[in-house]
Amino acid sequence: MRKITILGATGSIGRSTVDVVSEHPDKFEVEAVVGGSNVETLAETAKRVKARCAVVADATKLADLKEALSDTDIDCGAGEKAVLEAVDRPADVILAAIAGTAGLAPTYASLKKGRRIALANKESLVCAGQSFMKAAAAIGAEVFAVDSEHNALQQALMAGQSQDVTIATITASGGPFRTWSREDIAAAPAEVASRHPVWAMGAKILIDSATLMNKGLELIEASHLFDLRADQLDVVVHPDAIVHAIAQWRDGAVTAGLAAPDMRIPIANALGFERRLKMPYPVLDFVKISRLNFEAPDEERFPCLKLAKAVLRAGGPLPAAMNAANEVAVAAYMGGQIKFYDIYTLVAAVCSVYAGEGVRAPASVEDALAIHNDATKMAQEHLELILAKH
Ligand code: NDP
Ligand code: MG
Repeated sequence: MRKITILGATGSIGRSTVDVVSEHPDKFEVEAVVGGSNVETLAETAKRVKARCAVVADATKLADLKEALSDTDIDCGAGEKAVLEAVDRPADVILAAIAGTAGLAPTYASLKKGRRIALANKESLVCAGQSFMKAAAAIGAEVFAVDSEHNALQQALMAGQSQDVTIATITASGGPFRTWSREDIAAAPAEVASRHPVWAMGAKILIDSATLMNKGLELIEASHLFDLRADQLDVVVHPDAIVHAIAQWRDGAVTAGLAAPDMRIPIANALGFERRLKMPYPVLDFVKISRLNFEAPDEERFPCLKLAKAVLRAGGPLPAAMNAANEVAVAAYMGGQIKFYDIYTLVAAVCSVYAGEGVRAPASVEDALAIHNDATKMAQEHLELILAKH
């Protein structure tokens, strides 16, 4: 039996993880489930997976959680400290799927305990990737990628060593606006931007997928996970979402990672230990699929991708600053305060400040979080300016 703790258990990845774990009651027992504020779903999840402990990050929700679980002997906790206590409990693997940089502290705490991490929370790596991976190596904590492209790339890269990769390509489905004109995209509200053609996901990543910032964050995530340089990484649009990553080697060989677009597949892969987990999926019928289509991303209509590529090349404090500004901008867009391309304008404005001389690169996770907090404040000020102009 493997003990698993699920951070972000009520979200899209969390629910898919519960599906995978529920397929294998003989292999997994759930130690703790952690959520943000949705007590009802957290309590249901805790009961479904027979967790020993349920924790809600919102400190005001303890009484509600206790009430919802009063007919069980599941331990209840609330607040940030309780979240950190949940990752302290014995577990063989922590599935890290809290949305946004809010996931960094608990994910890093899990890592410091030497736990095996199944990592979905890409913002943690974008904010503090260097320190995070350095700590993982020093402690001997294994990090398994859950993000579909990275999970596919992790499997593809087993065919060689990362310094022998000429190009590692991650694919993008292209999002809801792949074929839209710039004018139409500019006028689209968040509700339309959230209609992803392939993946069902949480609110923030849906917007990141529409701007293609998600792919930019993923390039930075890949650089840290696999120790790849900016010039070894690329993005290609692949609307079929069957090929998730492609590694091209210096001897000319190419290794790709393919799977149906279903997050339960990379989750099952990251949770398989000695053997792959058996999952009830049909075999891919390549005759039926018949064609795999690829196209270049349009960085004019999707300038966030171009910006993120420059940020990856520059490094230093920029990834943490870009990620922070993006969180502010996406929240403002979702709240109907700003327009689609204001997301780019706001993030670029904050990045240009950090691109100036004198701002040091984060030397630790704490340092990265300090940059995150400063850049968040700066982004909020820029947001005020944009709102004043409207
Ligand atoms: P969701 O918004 O669906 O879920 C987020 C989860 O995090 C919820 O359980 C939420 O709880 C919880 N949460 C939010 N804030 C806090 C907090 N401060 N402390 C503790 N828990 C919190 O997001 P997704 O599942 O879509 O994404 C999760 C992560 O995985 C993101 O980093 C995303 O980029 C990444 N990812 C997602 C993919 C997908 O297909 N969805 C694919 C690849 C990566 P509550 O419900 O109570 O608010
Ligand atoms: Mg992805």
